[in-house]
Amino acid sequence: MGSPIDENAVTGPNPMLPKEFRVRRVRRETADTFTVEIEATNGDQTQTFAPGQFNMLYAFGVGEIAISICADPQGKSLMHTTRVVGTVTKALGKLRTGDTLGVRGPFGTIWNAGGTGACKSTSQWIERPAHGSGTWVS
Ligand SMILES: Cc1cc2nc3c(=O)[nH]c(=O)nc-3n(C[C@H](O)[C@H](O)[C@H](O)COP(=O)(O)OP(=O)(O)OC[C@H]3O[C@@H](n4cnc5c(N)ncnc54)[C@H](O)[C@@H]3O)c2cc1C
Repeated sequence: MGSPIDENAVTGPNPMLPKEFRVRRVRRETADTFTVEIEATNGDQTQTFAPGQFNMLYAFGVGEIAISICADPQGKSLMHTTRVVGTVTKALGKLRTGDTLGVRGPFGTIWNAGGTGACKSTSQWIERPAHGSGTWVS
């Protein structure tokens, strides 16, 4: 089966156009909260973003929602931590390694007031199982 996204429609780095990403791994943080680490399926380098920005994540055939980018802006991984509250977050919560989703962004203004430190702290907590309760599940 072909990609759900028409790559011919992508003409440049326009944040309004969705790109297909693949799930690298999924981490269970709490009973209703999870983190997905994703990468572009076309091999592009990790999306450039700044602290405080968010992406629109599209669960194919379900819907698209805003989720903050939860990663080190200087790093190579792109992660989103999400709480399951409804239709789309529930669908995203079922994603596992190798599954694909659509991503548009980044959007939002840069969070200047100490934003970098907070974002990095979150990322470091996610990457250190000894200091968090979550577990990478796929
Ligand atoms: C800029 C921005 C950044 C965001 N970043 C994050 C993020 O990093 N992580 C994250 O988990 N969420 C984040 N959100 C919230 C996220 O977009 C919503 O939780 C999501 O749209 C819910 O979609 P759904 O289809 O799962 O729920 P829906 O089916 O639309 O809603 C189902 C039910 O849940 C209620 N509901 C919706 N959202 C919430 C909520 N947040 N808390 C409690 N009840 C809710 C609704 O009122 C409704 O009753 C962000 C929102 C914005 C605008």
